[in-house]
Amino acid sequence: MQKPHEAEEEYFAKLEVEKRRKLAEKKHAELKTHEVEALRETHFMHCPECGANLEPFVFKGFSVNKCFHCGGAFLNTEAFQRLCGEDNKFLNLVVEIFQFKK
Ligand SMILES: [Zn+2]
Repeated sequence: MQKPHEAEEEYFAKLEVEKRRKLAEKKHAELKTHEVEALRETHFMHCPECGANLEPFVFKGFSVNKCFHCGGAFLNTEAFQRLCGEDNKFLNLVVEIFQFKK
């Protein structure tokens, strides 16, 4: 059974993620095409934590973008869910709160 404060925390986390997603979408829509291309060229396959290059690494059939400098690993939602298993309550909650449809 979920405690009331946990349900409240999850509710507000979902609201905050949705608010930030909409803001990011608005900011992105305001960018000019050459600015979008410049951002992608600068940041694509770079670690958001340390800036080192990410390298694709296949694990259990899924491509994981791995930073071999700081240890960060980045994968898409489908791969995350399938690697964690469908019965993992905590990880499924993380996916539920942080994923969104484009
Ligand atoms: Zn890194």
